[in-house]
Amino acid sequence: MALNKELLDILVCPKCKGAISLTAEEDGLLCAPCGLAYPVLDEIPVMLVEEAIPLAEWDDKRPCRK
Ligand SMILES: [Zn+2]
Repeated sequence: MALNKELLDILVCPKCKGAISLTAEEDGLLCAPCGLAYPVLDEIPVMLVEEAIPLAEWDDKRPCRK
């Protein structure tokens, strides 16, 4: 799975408009200030606050959970 890095550069957290960071597995985009993770489904980042997963629940709900 390879996400477009240029796309990542322009993506911001839809909630706080801050920078987001890609998870090591490239299955999510994290916003630490909001404590939210935005799932990446089929290499498409889902940048919707309604679809965001609280970081506390990320390990259980992440898209490519092991
Ligand atoms: Zn945020």
